[in-house]
Amino acid sequence: MCRWFGNFAGVLAVVGWIALVVLGIRSYWVHDSWGYERPVVPGEKRWGGNVSSATGTVEAEWWLRPDTGEAADRESHFAHSANWVKPDLAEARRDYARSLGGFQLCGVVLARREFDPRPGGAVGSSMPQVVRNVIVPHWMLALGGGIWPGVWWMGVRQRRLREYRKAHGLCVACGYDLRASEERCPECGRHFARTKGDGGAGTA
Ligand SMILES: [Zn+2]
Repeated sequence: MCRWFGNFAGVLAVVGWIALVVLGIRSYWVHDSWGYERPVVPGEKRWGGNVSSATGTVEAEWWLRPDTGEAADRESHFAHSANWVKPDLAEARRDYARSLGGFQLCGVVLARREFDPRPGGAVGSSMPQVVRNVIVPHWMLALGGGIWPGVWWMGVRQRRLREYRKAHGLCVACGYDLRASEERCPECGRHFARTKGDGGAGTA
């Protein structure tokens, strides 16, 4: 059961990683974005966000807005859009990332901005809101996201090798033929115990 779950999670991680790489390659041709905003509840804060993938980067943005009571501000939406990447989008996206400020390193951006268009507040938005942005390059996601499937696959291969060695009477640690040996592997010194039906060498 546990192994079944481990394999299932491992396969899922590999599929997820492949999807991530495909999305990363796709981002150079297609600008994808998905967004959601909570329907308006009078007097309560609205929240929403979107994720977009374009020109080698992924951006997540989410916001909190107080209900200002204005009718024009009461639309909510759920949207997915895909547009062909415009020739100058990469540069525009880089400029935009820089303009966010906050923490910036190797293409990673973590930013929090507060807007209040009312007198005395920060300009740049038509409504008061707090906006958070996270931008991560696709290559970094692929590298980071590949660690788990990679570790899982190495574990699977190691397990298979151990099972093969056990079944063929070889030392589990170094692969030395133990059929003529007792207790210890003459090659690496590993203890082993014979069990019925394992071809000679058992686990230590
Ligand atoms: Zn050995």
